[in-house]
Amino acid sequence: MIYLKTDEEIELMRISNQLVAKTLGEVAKAIKPGVSTLELDKIAETFIRDNGGTPGFLNYQGFPNTLCTSVNEQVVHGIPNDNPLNEGDIVSVDCGVLINEFYGDSAYTFPIGEVAPEVKALLDATKESLYKGIEQAIENNRLGDVGNAIQTYSEERGYSVVREMVGHGIGKNLHEAPEVANYGRKGNGTKLKSGMVIAIEPMINLGKRQIVQDDDGWTIKTIDSKVSAHYEHTVAVRKGKADILSSFKFVEEVLHLQSEK
Ligand code: MG
Ligand code: MG
Repeated sequence: MIYLKTDEEIELMRISNQLVAKTLGEVAKAIKPGVSTLELDKIAETFIRDNGGTPGFLNYQGFPNTLCTSVNEQVVHGIPNDNPLNEGDIVSVDCGVLINEFYGDSAYTFPIGEVAPEVKALLDATKESLYKGIEQAIENNRLGDVGNAIQTYSEERGYSVVREMVGHGIGKNLHEAPEVANYGRKGNGTKLKSGMVIAIEPMINLGKRQIVQDDDGWTIKTIDSKVSAHYEHTVAVRKGKADILSSFKFVEEVLHLQSEK
């Protein structure tokens, strides 16, 4: 069952996702060599609560924290801990918020100081693959068009696409139908309708696409221990152009990057 959102509900979801965006901006201000992912988690939790929201991931199916922080070969669902981040690391920071009965969900992979050129290239390509997918998230396209755009862009550059973990519908539930794969065939899959709200979240690996789950029961890692990148936006499907409800603006102001389109 796919819930189509009304215009009013989409505006509420924009509020949820803008709080996620601002939370990621607060994380961006603190991220540097020596800081731990648990410190980032506390910053995020405090900021969300101070702004009237509830952390969306905390206690979700037993997840222990506000952020998922996935370092280097960790793909997604990493648990914040006391270990300091080191120069040259990358960390995917994934944040969910519940406010006004609707969830927001977005993720950004941060470089810690200077990272190797091949790692920087993976980050840039993964973020761009997300926008390639978003371009296809329009009325009357199909989910396969979204996945195919991400897959084609990534594989042409020699990267591999994680298959087992996918994006999702989102609304009053953090995870709703449909599943949004980051691979697929053009013209295949569920037809997109205006009012569908989906989280698109490519997970792109420098090496092999296969993943394994850590003994902690949460963390997903690459099988070959090469690095993986992850970016996520929540978008509303519309005619002609998707409406991006989350934003990297606050993060990229801090990182002094030219912001998204
Ligand atoms: Mg997420
Ligand atoms: Mg998500």
